[in-house]
This record gives sequence, structure tokens and C-alpha cells, in this order.
Amino acid sequence: MENRQQIAAGNWKMNKTFEEGIALVKEIIEKSNNERTLVILAVPFTHLNGIADLVAPIPNIKLAAQNCHEKESGAFTGEISANMLLSVGADYVILGHSERREHFKESNEVLAKKVEHAISKGLIPIFCCGESLRIRKAKIHVDFVSNQLNEGLFHLNPEAFSKVIIAYEPIWAIGTGETATPEQAQNMHKEIRALIEKKYGHDLAQNIPILYGGSVKPDSAKDLFHQPDVDGGLVGGASLNADDFVAILNSF
Ligand code: PEP
Repeated sequence: MENRQQIAAGNWKMNKTFEEGIALVKEIIEKSNNERTLVILAVPFTHLNGIADLVAPIPNIKLAAQNCHEKESGAFTGEISANMLLSVGADYVILGHSERREHFKESNEVLAKKVEHAISKGLIPIFCCGESLRIRKAKIHVDFVSNQLNEGLFHLNPEAFSKVIIAYEPIWAIGTGETATPEQAQNMHKEIRALIEKKYGHDLAQNIPILYGGSVKPDSAKDLFHQPDVDGGLVGGASLNADDFVAILNSF
């Protein structure tokens, strides 16, 4: 890692009641004393307001939502807007998680709109990309991820793009217990950084944080995070346990 911010992001997905979420955050705060790492907790929408009060005094813990709509407001029953998320303490939003791409059919086209809208409102996107096992076995994973970036992210102007965090999350590693090797992660992160450089130039490519996601655990985090182009992790399962998550954020 060059001089980029190191980031440990936790994606709670659809887990934890409000009370359980409050208890987990209190435990994370109590057990962690690492102020160098930016910690981003992507909690359910319903938990943001309450957890925002808890983390407000801690400068390196921030909140994310796990999705938001591409329009400002209107007749979109069940959806949530960037402004609503900002108003309850979210600074970041995960966009394009593979579970949303798969179960909710989010396309690169709609993600391009979501990313642009979120940034225009001041919400920082954590844009997820990553290939399935079939794509990897066919050895076309670099082209596949390149296409996701081209269609979902690279329409942004340099000023807007400079706000983005990218998370490379190979689908075959998410929730499966099968982590990419540090070499596999580094190779793809390097490719992603090269794609950014080609589109936006060297300086921007060097500044954009690229996180790895896919079964990051306390015993795999250190080797992954020490790769030169891996700037941290987007952690699912292990972020639901305070000891595991704190061990991960102490792995840099
Ligand atoms: C994720 O949901 O982004 C993720 C990487 O999950 P897990 O760590 O459980 O594989």
C-alpha cells in the first residue's frame, strides 16, 4: 500500500436486530484502539440513526448504507434516497454488491446512475465488482471486471471519480469460506489500478482505495492487506463478530 488510507469495512447485510447492532458496535468500540484505520460499518438502514449517535465521538468510525436509489425522491415504494441516508448519519454507500446484482438484477447501467447520484449528493460509493467462478475458470475475469468498471464507473468525470472506493469481491469467495489467495487479490487489484490509470491517469490511480472482499477472516487478513495494491477489506461474515472484526482491522 502506498500512502492510501487503510480501510476495514464491515458489511452486515440483512443481519442483526437494532438492539443486537447497538451491542455489536459498542463491543467494537470497546475492543478497538486502532485510530489509523478507517472503519466503515455498512449496517441496515433501520440502524443508521441510532448507531450514528454511538460512533459520532470516534473520528475513524463511519457509517455506510448497503444500497440507495438513483433518483432524488418520488414514487418508489420501498426504496431509499441518498438524502435520506445522509440525514441519518451515513457517509458511504455500498453500490453494486454481487448480491444486489444477482438477487435484485442491478445492472451496470442502473449502477452507473446510482453512483453518479450518490456522489452528487455527497455520499461516497463503495463500488463492488468481481467475477463468478465460471468466469474465472474461463480466464476472462480481467475482461469481465474491466467491463463492470467501464459501464458502471468510468463515465464519471475525474473530480467525481476521485471520491470513489472500489471493492474487488470475487463472487466465488463471498460467504463461501474460500478466500482468494493474496496473489490472486494483488493481481486483480493491480489490473484494476492499471485500468484506472489508463482512464484517469497515474495520480488518480494511485489515490483510489481498492478493497478486497470475499471471506476475509482474522487469519487471512494480514497477508491480503500487505499486498501493495490491497488497501483493506470489505468484510461480510466476520464483521458480525466484534473479536473477529477487531482482529481484522488490526491486521494492517
Ligand atoms: C461481502 O458481503 O461483501 C463479503 C465479502 O462477505 P464474506 O466476507 O462473508 O465473504
